[in-house]
Amino acid sequence: MTDSFEAKGKRKRLVEELRKKGISDEEVLRAIDTVPRHLFMDAAFLVHAYTDKAFPISSGQTISQPYTVAVQTSLLRVKKRDKILEVGTGSGYQAAVLAEIGAKVYTIERFRDLFLKAQKTLASLGYNIDFFYGDGYAGKPQYGPYDGIVVTAAAPEIPSELLRQLKTGGRLVVPVGNSSSQVMTVVERTGEDAFEYSRHGDFVFVPMLKGTVNGK
Ligand code: SAH
Repeated sequence: MTDSFEAKGKRKRLVEELRKKGISDEEVLRAIDTVPRHLFMDAAFLVHAYTDKAFPISSGQTISQPYTVAVQTSLLRVKKRDKILEVGTGSGYQAAVLAEIGAKVYTIERFRDLFLKAQKTLASLGYNIDFFYGDGYAGKPQYGPYDGIVVTAAAPEIPSELLRQLKTGGRLVVPVGNSSSQVMTVVERTGEDAFEYSRHGDFVFVPMLKGTVNGK
């Protein structure tokens, strides 16, 4: 799998578009400028890879819109060597953006075929990420606590088990709502039993579902 001058040029334009839409975190923009998003999609879709839109991958799921990836990553306030847990690996694109910023990334996916495919993609790009096949509602306590947890699927309510896996000072970024629209919600753990909530606009994600899927 290779990058190309054409793709690099398209990424520069995408980054300018994200700046105009209000993304200002330079590390996030640099990561989006660096990660070859087209390699997370089927080969025929290069023309769509650098438009600011979500796009279907397999198993009825989607690769998130670049703007959404940029917002979630900015809200996490990732620093180098932060331990970040992602729920909803999907294509692996969001995980790659986090790894590009220097985070130690753990990511969970409930579809076995997506879990396997993302693992391959990320390995070929040289990112060192820990992949898990499982139900992200349970998090991954054995590797926590985390500096940040990002859920990239629509949660009907804040998954309480994930709050328990945050460090003090850690942040959970999760879209909360029904299937048609969700509010991007940040929960910061300010003490052992203290949490602060903030809301950051409306988004639309595929649903966060319980259990795992071992076929297509
Ligand atoms: N971050 C992904 C976005 C994928 S869409 C990307 O950058 O491409 C959301 C993903 O969340 C889907 O692949 C879906 O299968 C997964 N998902 C939904 N509920 C889940 C759960 N409970 N545990 C783990 N993954 C889940």
